Amino acid sequence: MICMMGLSGIPWANILWQGNEAEWASCSIGVFICLQCSGVHRTPTIGKVKSVRLDNWEHDLIEFMKAHGNLRAKEKYEAFVPPFYYKPRVRDCMILKEEWIKAKYERREFEFKRDYPTGDKEGYLWKRGRDNRQFLKRRFVYSESERLLKYYTNNPTVPKGTIPIRSLNAMFQGDKIGHAHGLEITYVQDRQTRNLFVYHEDGKEIVAWFNLLRAARFNYLRGAFPGTPEAELIPKITRNYSKAGYMEKTGPTVSYLLFLFWVFGTFCIGNSYTELYFFLKRNGLICQ
Ligand SMILES: [Zn+2]
Repeated sequence: MICMMGLSGIPWANILWQGNEAEWASCSIGVFICLQCSGVHRTPTIGKVKSVRLDNWEHDLIEFMKAHGNLRAKEKYEAFVPPFYYKPRVRDCMILKEEWIKAKYERREFEFKRDYPTGDKEGYLWKRGRDNRQFLKRRFVYSESERLLKYYTNNPTVPKGTIPIRSLNAMFQGDKIGHAHGLEITYVQDRQTRNLFVYHEDGKEIVAWFNLLRAARFNYLRGAFPGTPEAELIPKITRNYSKAGYMEKTGPTVSYLLFLFWVFGTFCIGNSYTELYFFLKRNGLICQ
């Protein structure tokens, strides 16, 4: 049995763990995760979570982590993610991460090949009024044949607004909208950029709308730019302008700290711990 507790007082060891954001691990799935994701993983339907540094790690559990790990989990649980489906990144909002983790590990949506629902969709969203800025429940309809998103107010047959998929962009803007599930939809009409602010109380539903709009955009782009490689189309599906200019932080001293850690680990703690750490490092610490 190896107790990680002994490491918590070592400043440079702390820097390493925190720098890599892998303070936690799901010992049911066998992946290393950050604090934020650990809250979503810690459910009866997904599994048990342990602190990498503070909990006891029995030998068998370390072996289990080594036998699974983030890369293998990715191969298994992300085997058939549709190309348009949005995989959240570190800086993305919590609702995208939460629903991604649930889709991946709880509902296992991408483990096997299947037809992902991408056609027409109809449902209710709370939409912010243009003048009074109050949110009202509105019926939204997406028509794949017309490539139009429409919403209705009092007249159930004549849409109040029609949004062409051609110029549509969607991005989560929780702070701006004042709701954690807030989605901003922008589009061009009469040579002007317009926007809609919507949300749905159910995180699964708003993320389903987001991915449906992404699927619609992907289909449109494939038709509009035939022969263009998929990898070039994917970044054009939707863009998060609020994150523009952000650059991932890289730690130039990580290798040096890793070397120190290895020396310290080998002489003072024992090989199993350094083995676990190197395994963690090799697996790239891909969260979620
Ligand atoms: Zn995470």
